[in-house]
Amino acid sequence: MKIPLVDLKIQYSQIKSEIDSAIKNVIDETAFIKGKYVDEFESNYAKLFGVKHCISVANGTDSLFISMKILGIGSGDEVITVANSWISTSETITLTGAKPIFIDIEPNHYTIDVSKIEEKISSKTKAIIPVHLFGHPANMTKIMEIAKKYNLKVIEDCAQAHLAKWQGKIIGTIGDIGSFSFFPGKNLGAYGDGGGIITNNDSYAEKIRMFANHGALVKHAHKIEGMNSRLDGMQAAILNVKLKYLQQWTDQRIKVASMYNNLLSNINGIEIPKVNSNAYHVFHLYVIRTNQRNSLIKTLNNNNISTGIHYPTPLPYLDAYKYLDYSKNDFPISSSYSDNILSLPMYPELNMEQVSKISKIIIKKLK
Ligand SMILES: *Cc1c(COP(=O)(O)O)cnc(C)c1O
Repeated sequence: MKIPLVDLKIQYSQIKSEIDSAIKNVIDETAFIKGKYVDEFESNYAKLFGVKHCISVANGTDSLFISMKILGIGSGDEVITVANSWISTSETITLTGAKPIFIDIEPNHYTIDVSKIEEKISSKTKAIIPVHLFGHPANMTKIMEIAKKYNLKVIEDCAQAHLAKWQGKIIGTIGDIGSFSFFPGKNLGAYGDGGGIITNNDSYAEKIRMFANHGALVKHAHKIEGMNSRLDGMQAAILNVKLKYLQQWTDQRIKVASMYNNLLSNINGIEIPKVNSNAYHVFHLYVIRTNQRNSLIKTLNNNNISTGIHYPTPLPYLDAYKYLDYSKNDFPISSSYSDNILSLPMYPELNMEQVSKISKIIIKKLK
């Protein structure tokens, strides 16, 4: 039996009747765009996070772009973000007309190295976008301190970290705006693309809602130019069903991580994930480091176990950023880790038998 990196089918099989009837209702009521299922999801999501506003959008890339647009970020501005992330985080900065300023990751938790932020702040800096990568929150205490000192906005990229917490505070609610993705493989995933933005700021919320809907809150009353970025009714109805299980699935992810930890700690040649004592890590991914990465991938693959690399090339070294002309020394941690990081299968339904099997193969190979 194959063990995939992420198994979306097993989750569907457990909630099939609820999902199927939710989809059928949307079609019966032709509630395809906007409408009651979208309203219901936004209100449930805001309630779960304890925030005033949730505005759903088409995906977790638009949510970053729209957040920056309504904060007035554009040409001539700089936005600080982290060198190891999915490209959405930086490409949306460029898309606004601003310039991404990358910061290396700190060695223990794969998140932005907050000790290196201040030296990169200039008169052009407008915002910081920390990424709660793999489900581990960035150091929000320090980030908010710096933001306050230099009068910067903070947009949290929470695409991989639904329900994660920093010092007991749920992520997405610490900065000015929290940006979420509901891509199918994320901790809360739709059956297509989806995204969401949360904030306690009424004025931001209204601007976001307007911008994501052609600049209009009321049909045909276009106050500004915006774009079409909406969550469709079918995805909202599916997410409404799945939202009820999110905490339970998160607990299961944490349990899977602790099974791996028990089996893989103190094994020579492997670094297991570390968790900051201020962090509630929701394990979107379980990432180890080993200098035998490529041969290990091969062995696992021969045993029908899939793995991933997040990410094979740090953002500044992608072809897309060749024009910024960075060298390996600019982001030494991201650069050296990119050859060693390995994402093992991680999803709530993984069982002890499977985790054991995976771990045994790894241990045997590294002996
Ligand atoms: C998935 C992801 C996004 C983008 O989300 P989409 O919904 O796929 O557009 C942004 N940032 C990070 C860190 C992600 O993992």
